[in-house]
Amino acid sequence: MASPLSGRIQIVRGDITRQPVAAIVNAANSSLLGGGGVDGAIHRAGGPQVLDECRQIRARQGGCKTGEAVITTGGHLPAAHVIHTVGPVWNGGHKGEPELLASCYRNSLRLATAGRLESVAFPGISTGIYGYPKPQAAAIAVREVRQWLAENEFPKLVVLVAFDEESRRLYEQELLG
Ligand code: ADP
Repeated sequence: MASPLSGRIQIVRGDITRQPVAAIVNAANSSLLGGGGVDGAIHRAGGPQVLDECRQIRARQGGCKTGEAVITTGGHLPAAHVIHTVGPVWNGGHKGEPELLASCYRNSLRLATAGRLESVAFPGISTGIYGYPKPQAAAIAVREVRQWLAENEFPKLVVLVAFDEESRRLYEQELLG
C-alpha cells in the first residue's frame, strides 16, 4: 500500500533555481553573502534583492549558524522565497554532522510551515563543497521530511531536487525503502 505521505514528497532531477515552488532552500554559508555551488546559482538567478535581504539579516543577527535557517524573498526566481540554511562541513561524521544536517531540514521546514507555504524544494544540503557523503545525506533528508510531513499540514509538497543521477537514485531508494 502506498504511504499516505507518498504524494507529498517528489524527487526531481534538475536545477533548483527553475523549480516552480513557493520556496527553494539554499545551501548557504554562515556569512549569508553568497558562495559557489547552488548558493552561487541561486544568487545569480534571484538577483540583487536576495543578497540585499541576506545583508540585512546579517546586520541584524550576524549571519546564520550551522543547522539554522533564515528566509528572504526569491527576487527574480520562480519561487517567491528562498530559505537559506547552513549545512555542516563533513569532518568524518563524529562532530555532530548528522544532527546538524537534520536541523537544517527541520529548521527550513519550520519556516515553511510558519509561512503556510504550499511547496518547498531542497537541494542536497552539504553534499557538494561541504563533502557530506550523499547516501547518508539522502537518508537524513528523507527521514526528516517524512517525519515533518506526518506532523504538519504545511508544506503540502516537498521536492527533493537531485542535481545528478546518483542523488536521484539515492533519494528514490530511501523513499521506497
Ligand atoms: P554545500 O556547500 O552545502 O556542500 P554545494 O552548493 O556545494 O553546497 O552543493 C550542494 C548540492 O547542490 C550538491 O549535491 C550539488 O551537486 C547540488 N547543486 C549544485 N548546483 C545546483 C543547482 N543549480 N540545483 C540543484 N542542486 C545543485
